[in-house]
Amino acid sequence: MTHTPITREDRNICIDCKSRMQDVLETARFTDEERAFLDKPKRVVTLSVPVTMDSGEVRTFNAYRVLYNNALGPGKGGLRFHPSVEIEEVKKLAFLMTLKCALVHIPFGGAKGGVEVDPRTLSSGERERLARAVMREMHPFLGERTDIPAPDVNTNAEIMGYMVDEYARIKGAFIPGIITGKPLPLGGSKGRETATALGGAYVLKEYLKQHRRDITDITVAVQGYGNVGGHIARILDSWGARIVAVSDSKKAVYCEEGISCAATYTTREKTALPTDPSYQDLTNEALLELSVDVLIPSALSHQITAENAHRIHAPIILEMANDPVTPEADRILAEHDIVVIPDILANAGGVVVSYFEWIQNNTNEYWDEERIERELEVRMTRALAEVLTQQDTATRANLRSHSYRCALERIFEAERARGRLTRR
Ligand code: NAD
Repeated sequence: MTHTPITREDRNICIDCKSRMQDVLETARFTDEERAFLDKPKRVVTLSVPVTMDSGEVRTFNAYRVLYNNALGPGKGGLRFHPSVEIEEVKKLAFLMTLKCALVHIPFGGAKGGVEVDPRTLSSGERERLARAVMREMHPFLGERTDIPAPDVNTNAEIMGYMVDEYARIKGAFIPGIITGKPLPLGGSKGRETATALGGAYVLKEYLKQHRRDITDITVAVQGYGNVGGHIARILDSWGARIVAVSDSKKAVYCEEGISCAATYTTREKTALPTDPSYQDLTNEALLELSVDVLIPSALSHQITAENAHRIHAPIILEMANDPVTPEADRILAEHDIVVIPDILANAGGVVVSYFEWIQNNTNEYWDEERIERELEVRMTRALAEVLTQQDTATRANLRSHSYRCALERIFEAERARGRLTRR
């Protein structure tokens, strides 16, 4: 399992999300009661999880689960293993999940969880025992109608498999809808690996269509060539877009005639940058500043800042990474009429397919890849259309503000229907 550094990226996301929400709450017509309502999470659980290590010694790990809001349905959000997991950040990430689920109209609230552990220090046996022990301690707070975890930083289908099995042992019944991102034989969904990238590609295709443009007419630069960036580059290439530059943490490559990404789709080295003698090397900074139609940051947070925003030439930015554009950069890009399709919309495809997995588990009817893709397209394009509709009626606010506003309005509407907020 690869170890992912998270701390800086997630701090960025949490701080920016809060300041963006404040902006929206101040400008939109929300009541004082509504403004205060989402200040705190609904439930915060702190657990001590004892695990017997290979040495025979027992170590106790801290684990957290936050259910931020459940107005629209059971909590949904990842469970991560990381040494710097801490409760305030888990709360904010659970809040972000609340907005994301509401925005793409899936009947889930927002949740997040974490275990304070450096997974690199665990043997595979210790990792399995930790996953099972976490489920034993956390299960009173989870449920397919209560709160549903998923893989996150440093957790994966294997960990979800151990956890769903442990839950079955506790309950005496196999209940696959308790967790998503499971291995296929345990009720996982087809299409999960490419869901985030495909969801973003559908949003972009629809955005272009709404502006009377076609995907085959555009040039694209993609920063990051991992699960999200690699897949979206291949998908857009296979749909006829011209991918002129791609990068990873080591370098960027450029080719005016187009880089062949789709051809590497089925190779084992799926995260290796495409190579060809005709491709030129480029710096990552230069990739961001290319004159392309669409720039797709798919690597890290805070790549477009007040420092380089003036030099961005792409008229459309599709945020596949979380928080790649800072709030200061947002303002500069808006002055230059650059459209940012925000992360909470562009990269929501993963949680949508998690929802499909939950539906399949609950109905015991399993969908083929074609149906997953069709349903994903419907959800993503509808979410975009709703955000764009808001844009028609509002004044000079950006797609990010509209997205936050759409999500908040839906949550408050459900809260009012439940009688937890005063009816207007
Ligand atoms: P990943 O680890 O699979 O890939 C990250 C890629 O970015 C790698 O190719 C890496 O080499 C590259 N990279 C790292 N530093 C770079 C730099 N300075 N310049 C250029 N490239 C750099 O990660 P991922 O799962 O593809 O996630 C990427 C982003 O998308 C993250 O912000 C993540 O939070 C977000 N995201 C991912 C998912 C998902 O389903 N995987 C869902 C929502 C959001």
